[in-house]
Amino acid sequence: MTECTRCGGKPFYTRRYSGETLCASCFKDSITDKARRTVSKYQMIGTGEKVAVAVSGGKDSLSLLRVISDVYGPRQNSIVAISIDEGVAGYRDEALDHARSLSKELGLEHIVLSYKELFGFTLDEALDWQDERDISSCSFCGVFRRRAIDEAAVRAKATVVATAHNLDDYVQTFLMNLMHGDVARLAWLDPSYSDDTFPVRRVKPFMEIYEEEVALFAYQSGLPFQSVNCPYMHEGLRSEVRDYLNTMEANHPGIKNVLLSSSLDVISHYARTSDKKSVPCSSCGKPSSNGLCNVCRMKATIEEHVKYGP
Ligand code: SF4
Ligand code: ZN
Repeated sequence: MTECTRCGGKPFYTRRYSGETLCASCFKDSITDKARRTVSKYQMIGTGEKVAVAVSGGKDSLSLLRVISDVYGPRQNSIVAISIDEGVAGYRDEALDHARSLSKELGLEHIVLSYKELFGFTLDEALDWQDERDISSCSFCGVFRRRAIDEAAVRAKATVVATAHNLDDYVQTFLMNLMHGDVARLAWLDPSYSDDTFPVRRVKPFMEIYEEEVALFAYQSGLPFQSVNCPYMHEGLRSEVRDYLNTMEANHPGIKNVLLSSSLDVISHYARTSDKKSVPCSSCGKPSSNGLCNVCRMKATIEEHVKYGP
């Protein structure tokens, strides 16, 4: 049987795209090293910066919290975990428990911010008019979630927010932006993108790591898995793109890596040539692309359709 390429130990995982076979311990180290290299390559975390890690409580974000805490916690960075409670009955509680207990185990502050507190409605209340909407629940929810994460990071006095998007998420989003004809959003995927009008920088330390490897890392680290799915999850196009990419990867190992590097080439070119800058939202003052931010636009639509109270 093939041994671990690095230490000669018992084989645990073979990277088909590189041919490397690793034992469990070298595999875990390789994930931490890869995240560290990505952070350094794109200068994601500065010396002394306070880092907020967005933790949904799923395997990817719990793994990220562990890696960031292990690598940057003992050095000059202070780390805080932030979670958003969308307000979905019977769903978020388990995930929040996982986030809470890992933060405690790592000795980190954990801040939870809810949609109800921030926007005045729970996601359950906001989605109560499902039939009339022409936008998926997740696209809808995502707009509020991004704002809530920024807000939680500001409250935590962090200057950078790390999210657990992995390589698969990244290339799926790239392809979906192309398929939606949403080329303007490509610049936002640039890992070096920064906009001074945003309160915090967003970084993705796992963006060069396959989803499958993050899941294995979580498993190998004994991190808990959330057992319940969000009842609104409706991935539509994304799940088709994911299946397609997985089939391509099975037939051509490494193709996702190639696609990531091509995406980054295209994005960096687009980011340099794009002169789009954000302007303050006329309603809330937060950055927007056209004078009214998506949060205020969607909030107004919800208020039109749904009655919700305190
Ligand atoms: Fe929001 Fe979709 Fe996540 Fe549910 S699955 S919490 S609707 S983004
Ligand atoms: Zn606004």
